[in-house]
Amino acid sequence: KTVCVTGASGFIASWIVKILLQRGYIVKATIRDPNDPKKTEHLLALDGAKERLHLLKANLLEQGSFDTVVDGCEGVFHTASPFFLVAADPQAELVEPALKGTLNVLESCAKAPSVKRVVLTSSIAAVAYNGEPLTPEVVVDETRWTNPEFCKEMKLWYPLSKTLAEDAAWKFVKEKGLDLVTINPAMVVGPLLQPTLNTSAAAVLSLIKNAEPYPNASFGWVNVKDVATAHILAFENPSANGRYLMVERVAHYSEIVKILRELYPTLPLPEKCADDKPFMPKFQVSKEKAKSLGIKFTSLEETLKETVESLKEKNFFA
Ligand code: NDP
Repeated sequence: KTVCVTGASGFIASWIVKILLQRGYIVKATIRDPNDPKKTEHLLALDGAKERLHLLKANLLEQGSFDTVVDGCEGVFHTASPFFLVAADPQAELVEPALKGTLNVLESCAKAPSVKRVVLTSSIAAVAYNGEPLTPEVVVDETRWTNPEFCKEMKLWYPLSKTLAEDAAWKFVKEKGLDLVTINPAMVVGPLLQPTLNTSAAAVLSLIKNAEPYPNASFGWVNVKDVATAHILAFENPSANGRYLMVERVAHYSEIVKILRELYPTLPLPEKCADDKPFMPKFQVSKEKAKSLGIKFTSLEETLKETVESLKEKNFFA
């Protein structure tokens, strides 16, 4: 079977490509700049790449860029989207590539009769921020939606980009009759295949490298291999539908530091929180749908260990 992965050089996408190749798929992988070895070498080194991986150039903002790529593919994994938290021009840097890119990819899919299902990498950022406080009694599940107006008010530009993109995707497929499933992960960590540092791995690195006070924030956390597997199961299982939240555990940064300290007693970890306010409350996230896909979540302890080992191996500590 032939499938396509957009943004293939990224943290999550590289794992999707690796597992797809392990499972015998032919993978058409899109990259913005296929001449940059930092974006391609780790993919070309994967088992099965020589025989079944095709790297193709495509850009989210170029209309028609994905037409020839998705043609002939049964499944399209659309992961490409900018993920960073600070932007000088959030509309141009985050919202446009996320929203226009998603519609661009979907338009190409709607023209390709081979495409049976699109799996979109959305985020818990498109789920959790509806404006009501996240407290220990709240159970976030797939029915919840982030409110774009609340994002604008709070200047939550990345959540805004993911919410507008996912919402537009559901509206598009309803109109065109395409089959869509979304995977909505929280903070994704675990081993890196790519040589560059992505935003969520950087969140762990900054704790162990700088020992600066940890942020007063509670997030959901999940292993990158589980997230990649969820994408593939969502394609392979005909009855998969709707959105799938992916969270092993919600944890405050103080707990992340505590786990890291138990794993690595000699690392210079932060002692203090960045502010003196009460810790940001935790909340619950439903795992039921993800489990129904067949996902068995890797523990946060194991995931953090894998993350640190990978950051060490890739010399990010230097
Ligand atoms: P990475 O930054 O590692 O990957 C992002 C990918 O998107 C890169 O391959 C990047 O290409 C590509 N991309 C960005 N802008 C464009 C563009 N204009 N045209 C083509 N490609 C583009 O991030 P992650 O792997 O972490 O994120 C992948 C997906 O997962 C995103 O959709 C993100 O929103 C989502 N996600 C991530 C979470 C996390 O914690 N990591 C949590 C929840 C969702 P290039 O390499 O050329 O820059």
